[in-house]
Amino acid sequence: MLIPIGVDPGAEVAAGVIGFPVRHSLSPAICQAAFDELGLGWVYAAFEVAPGDASRALDRMREQRMAGLSVTMPHKADVAAAVDELSPAAAALHAVNCVARDGDLLIGHNTDGAGFCDALLAEGVELAGVGCAVVGAGGAARAVVAELARRGAGEVAVIARRPEAAEAAAVLAGSVGATAGLDDIGEYRLVVNATPVGMAETTGAGTVPFEPDLLHVGQHVAELVYNPLHTPLLAECRRRGVPASTGVGMLVYQAVHAVRIWTGAEPPVDAMFAAATDQLAAGQDR
Ligand code: NAP
Repeated sequence: MLIPIGVDPGAEVAAGVIGFPVRHSLSPAICQAAFDELGLGWVYAAFEVAPGDASRALDRMREQRMAGLSVTMPHKADVAAAVDELSPAAAALHAVNCVARDGDLLIGHNTDGAGFCDALLAEGVELAGVGCAVVGAGGAARAVVAELARRGAGEVAVIARRPEAAEAAAVLAGSVGATAGLDDIGEYRLVVNATPVGMAETTGAGTVPFEPDLLHVGQHVAELVYNPLHTPLLAECRRRGVPASTGVGMLVYQAVHAVRIWTGAEPPVDAMFAAATDQLAAGQDR
């Protein structure tokens, strides 16, 4: 049985998030706000699923005829291996953050990269032809690197402390993929922090992922960390007059893609942003 957290145990759940831990996920607030605004009467819940148990959660999704699941750490790769089909983005990354049901088939998607790019485009940040540096080479970085290339970035350079991880991520950007060093940050128009450096309650809390004096006017910085919403890196950008985006845009837009896939309806972006920022203000994280 998938035991829903935060909703009536007898409720018929249409969609939910699986993760471990999952209690502080922002996905229930964001997706429930979307379902409510769309007037669907759907319930979205969180399900704590132990590491290694993701395929059992998918069996329950089939049995309970749920429309969709969001997938967070540590299940993204296991779910990619357990669904019936993968979208091209999920297949390239071997990672799934959104499962949708198509009749009896479960389809795995990865909406992280599209969410990241759509959030920047919504803020008027150009991507086509732009030189991008992505700091970090983990799951989120890989999704961002692949999608930046798909959106026509001029170059996508991965900067990471493990060269083999940087190279493996750069491959995802095909002919525009490259690796670079932290000293090269000033050469790129878009600079992305895809490390957890700056995240609350970690060893990197209160710190920045690279030397902020390398930044200059004419660049744009995109933060993936959203807890806290205003990270030390964003404060350094403000101090230097460098425009920057918080991590909440990616968080909301990856859910916008998921809600569109599950419901076929156009998601209410403003209501979803309001739900995310309300939860963050209340001191929670995903
Ligand atoms: P991950 O798979 O663990 O990857 C983290 C990456 O950062 C790895 O390349 C790691 O290098 C590097 N790193 C970690 N600590 C570092 C340090 N002190 N200095 C330099 N590099 C460091 O994590 P992830 O899933 O990609 O997530 C990364 C961040 O993005 C997290 O803060 C997460 O909350 C955030 N995120 C945000 C969204 C959103 O919607 N806004 C979505 C997904 C993730 P090693 O491999 O060498 O350790």
